[in-house]
Amino acid sequence: MVNAMGTNDMNVLWEQAEQEHAQQESSARVQNAMKIEREDHKLEKRLCREVGRAIVDFNMIEEGDKVMVCVSGGKDSYAMLDILLKLQKRAPINFSLIAVNLDQKQPGFPEHILPDYLSKLGVPFHIENQDTYSIVKRVIPEGKTLCSLCSRLRRGILYRVAGELGATKIALGHHRDDMLQTFFLNMFFAAKLKGMPPKLVSDDGKNIVIRPMAYVPEKDLTRWAQVRDFPIIPCTLCGSQENLQRKQVGNMLREWEKKHPGRLESMFSALQNIVPSHLMDSKRHDFKNIRATGQPDSEGDKAFDADAFSEPPPSLTGRPGLSVIGLKSV
Ligand code: SF4
Repeated sequence: MVNAMGTNDMNVLWEQAEQEHAQQESSARVQNAMKIEREDHKLEKRLCREVGRAIVDFNMIEEGDKVMVCVSGGKDSYAMLDILLKLQKRAPINFSLIAVNLDQKQPGFPEHILPDYLSKLGVPFHIENQDTYSIVKRVIPEGKTLCSLCSRLRRGILYRVAGELGATKIALGHHRDDMLQTFFLNMFFAAKLKGMPPKLVSDDGKNIVIRPMAYVPEKDLTRWAQVRDFPIIPCTLCGSQENLQRKQVGNMLREWEKKHPGRLESMFSALQNIVPSHLMDSKRHDFKNIRATGQPDSEGDKAFDADAFSEPPPSLTGRPGLSVIGLKSV
């Protein structure tokens, strides 16, 4: 049949086929773009919901607060500011925000990026210029890690700036995965069951520090930074090695999550569901003075039974948790 066709007919058929193909591709592209837009919209809603939930759960922001939002130029603090600005518009309370960046004078720090970004955003901001880089370089011997002195200096400066600006809260951009990493770092290297609190009184006793992204997984922030195209400033300018132990723990957690999806969420729920009577800290539970009550308690401890665990059912917070599903006598 093809042989019976003229060259013109063949050309028409080719053109038609090409047009059809182009239409299909364009429609697939449109559908794909719509799908991405839907996903991004869902992500935005999720971020607002989780940040809002943390704010309410820990009473992080109250009527009339002036929140100093610490912005470093990394994805987490950009996202925190972005979401807090959205929540500010719809919150049932009034609070103000002021973004603060500490320019530590690291070589190559692109000092125009944050002022340009924050001006465009229309948010009040303050850039604090303090050459902590030179101090740290002068004091710490070559080859030693700079971070502990650097962060101590930064902390002191930010507390002072908060006072000068009249801020009532200091917001930091740590997220769920930072909190879990800190929990394991403390367990592995400091022999403590201690995490990173969502809200605390600063060590100078003058400031309340909050972490509004306590419930947000890092992967959501990574995606949100792409969606919003934040002008990220690299965090390697100080030339310091990334904290090796934190990196190792981060890799360990990611590996666990890959092999056992939901494990991070479950561990995070566990941080909010502590049973001091089933740990071994006599300062938290008075083991010495335990006495039998003589009263049966269906919720009481079954000392002779081994615990068995299932896949995590939804916990009290709507996220997965652990529960005992079967009891085996021994
Ligand atoms: S990585 Fe660099 S900027 Fe960050 S705390 Fe360490 S020395 Fe300071």
